[in-house]
Amino acid sequence: MANIEKVIIIGSGPAGWTAAIYAARANLSPLVLAGRPKSVPSLVLPGGQLMLTTEVENYPGFPQGVTGPSLMAALEQQAVRFGTRIVTDDGLSPDVSNPDDGHTAKYHDCKAVDFSSRPFKVIGEDDTTYQAHSVVVATGATANWIGLESEQRLALSGGGVSACAVCDGAMPMFRDKELAVVGGGDSAIEEATYLTKFASKVYIIHRRNELRASKIMARRAMDNPKVEVLWNKVVDEVLGDERITGLRLKDTKTGELGERAVSGLFVAIGHTPATQFLAGQLELNEKGYIKLKDSYRTTTSVEGVFAAGDVADSVYRQAITAAAMGCKSAIDAERWLADQGIQ
Ligand SMILES: Cc1cc2nc3c(=O)[nH]c(=O)nc-3n(C[C@H](O)[C@H](O)[C@H](O)COP(=O)(O)OP(=O)(O)OC[C@H]3O[C@@H](n4cnc5c(N)ncnc54)[C@H](O)[C@@H]3O)c2cc1C
Repeated sequence: MANIEKVIIIGSGPAGWTAAIYAARANLSPLVLAGRPKSVPSLVLPGGQLMLTTEVENYPGFPQGVTGPSLMAALEQQAVRFGTRIVTDDGLSPDVSNPDDGHTAKYHDCKAVDFSSRPFKVIGEDDTTYQAHSVVVATGATANWIGLESEQRLALSGGGVSACAVCDGAMPMFRDKELAVVGGGDSAIEEATYLTKFASKVYIIHRRNELRASKIMARRAMDNPKVEVLWNKVVDEVLGDERITGLRLKDTKTGELGERAVSGLFVAIGHTPATQFLAGQLELNEKGYIKLKDSYRTTTSVEGVFAAGDVADSVYRQAITAAAMGCKSAIDAERWLADQGIQ
């Protein structure tokens, strides 16, 4: 009979590593399936969504800011320091990623789970089956992008393209500038309204002639003198080499191309939670996020399985809220294990 882990953590964003820090310090010797990068298929970077951002200015404790990759490497090192084990190509490795060494793709994805009976089964990408008394799912979500090479290049280099207005909108590069938001749903309207605090003007670029957002949200944006909706338009190209200088827009009705000078682009066309590998083993909400039994806890539809971070939170989507949920999930797991007599 294979070894039964006390807790397996799936995912290596702020939620997963924080869960690992707390579980390791509680002597649970957590095993982490850290996963392969999802957000930008061309990259080989573990560590979740923050690997896609240069400066993180709102994570507490860093008055001068910190780069996303450095923050993630620090969280991982902290988890390993207390005895977290990570599944890698070389077996179980305490190695930590180093932002300077190019982050080789050594971490393993979780391919499937079986939560139908205990101990739970967690299947790695190489078909190894790990058994566990408890599991924390912290697989996050990925921001949906338009899919243009120019968009990815300028997003990764900090060139003024972002998928998160709350994260990046207050940066000096966007202040008193004309900005654009792509999308037509509630989150696009929220992002646009938020950006009006800093920008001189915000264009909402929407491919249809009607917003999908709720009427009240849409009205709030339309009534804001800084907001202008560019109807029936899609972004055909993001212009600029090192910094965004504008957008080439295509009219969805006529096919006509035109340019619009902007100093920032915020893509707000939704997020996709990483829950496909769960294949119906946990209850999800209508958007595919893991349903929590109690919004103050991290308990899921299966006793002994906990969820933390963006995979269970479509509202806040911040590193600090994900880390906080990671902390809660480890404490929930520890208490649940104790109730089962597993120390
Ligand atoms: C461009 C950008 C900039 C941002 N900037 C900021 C910012 O400045 N400040 C801020 O607070 N927030 C920022 N955010 C939001 C923040 O990154 C997220 O809220 C946070 O990373 C969520 O953490 P998480 O641990 O829940 O998930 P994620 O960071 O998404 O991590 C999930 C992890 O799970 C792994 N995984 C997925 N599927 C599997 C699987 N099947 N098996 C194993 N592992 C798997 C992934 O590879 C990843 O490592 C930004 C987001 C983006 C996209």
